[in-house]
Amino acid sequence: MSEPLYGVPHGHGPLLGPLSPPLVRSTTAGQPDAETLRALGAGERPGEFYQRLGHANARAWESLVAAHEGADGAVSFASGMAAISGALLAHLKPGDRVLLAEEIYGGTSSFALADLVRFGVVVDRFSALDLAGLQAQLARPAQWVVFESPINPTLRVADIGAITGLAKAAGARTLFDATFAPPPVQQALALGVDLVACSATKFYGGHSDVLAGFVAGCHELLGPVEHFRRRTGGLLAPDPAWLLLRSWPTLELRVLAQQAAAQRLAEGLAAEARAGRLLDVSYPGLPAHPDRALVARQMRGGGAVLAVELPGGLPGAKRAYDRLQRIARAPSLGGVESLATLPAFTTHAALTPAQRQRAGIPDGLMRIAVGLEGADVLLDDIRQALRG
Ligand code: PLP
Repeated sequence: MSEPLYGVPHGHGPLLGPLSPPLVRSTTAGQPDAETLRALGAGERPGEFYQRLGHANARAWESLVAAHEGADGAVSFASGMAAISGALLAHLKPGDRVLLAEEIYGGTSSFALADLVRFGVVVDRFSALDLAGLQAQLARPAQWVVFESPINPTLRVADIGAITGLAKAAGARTLFDATFAPPPVQQALALGVDLVACSATKFYGGHSDVLAGFVAGCHELLGPVEHFRRRTGGLLAPDPAWLLLRSWPTLELRVLAQQAAAQRLAEGLAAEARAGRLLDVSYPGLPAHPDRALVARQMRGGGAVLAVELPGGLPGAKRAYDRLQRIARAPSLGGVESLATLPAFTTHAALTPAQRQRAGIPDGLMRIAVGLEGADVLLDDIRQALRG
């Protein structure tokens, strides 16, 4: 079998010479002879050849990601959506059936419903919070089960081990979106999922300046993904790959500091709720979280995203939201800056208020992605926004 073209081991020698890796933008590379040209072109061995087929900066980052996720390898893409769509398109064929969680990133469901079905893939929905419902869906053959946890924006937690167990027993593979909680908060591959896909735009980049994604897992399942990427050209480019390498040494520090701040902020906001100034706080790290037993089993902490229900419905939420001073009014998460969104205006705007309520997303819900400003700064900001 030819050597895989991803997950090339990264050297760990002494720190000599330039400490930051070179950025190599060259789209092509000169070869010593015809045989080398042939072997590289056929994908029989890794190496510099033509940038769309792989390049040093992406390979270096992929090998770090693979080790971090506990995977055989990682295949990088130009965005999280390129990674998720690439993983599915590489493996599916007309007539296949995908079970897609209701509680999934909107871009993933748009892609599945607009594009996968166009190519003859059947897409059925299940709730990641209803194992009996999933089991019933799996009574008919399905090839892939696609889900994520923690769930956006309710911050409920799905049972990753139970969902993968049910899928495996029915002969289906699992694709898990790990964007909200990368290692060390949650190691989805160790919990049994077959492939992890992730928007590295979030925590892996961490500075709101790079769009990227990856798929990680075992060689058997990554091979088709890497070959799909070669054919379709969605590879991560050298500049964002270099930025991701720049972000690498602080990844765990940032994630753990953001998580610690989110925990303190959630506790402060829970006190505000007890005092009647907020309706509710959702955060997996709070003792009152409905899935706390699962959180203890499959996560190391509650992550860095939480949600609060502001008083006064959508008008009240808008008023408080517009008064935020330190927390930016912006989509996304995982960066050093704290960001807030109103799901009723963004990710769940297409639903009616009644549909949102049924999905556990009240109109006054505000999602907060915690950055590195410090919990006290963020709590003060929300308190002043609530006082008006
Ligand atoms: N998955 C989740 C959970 C996300 O939040 C996002 C983006 O917000 C994506 C996937 C898509 O990632 P990208 O924007 O990098 O394509």
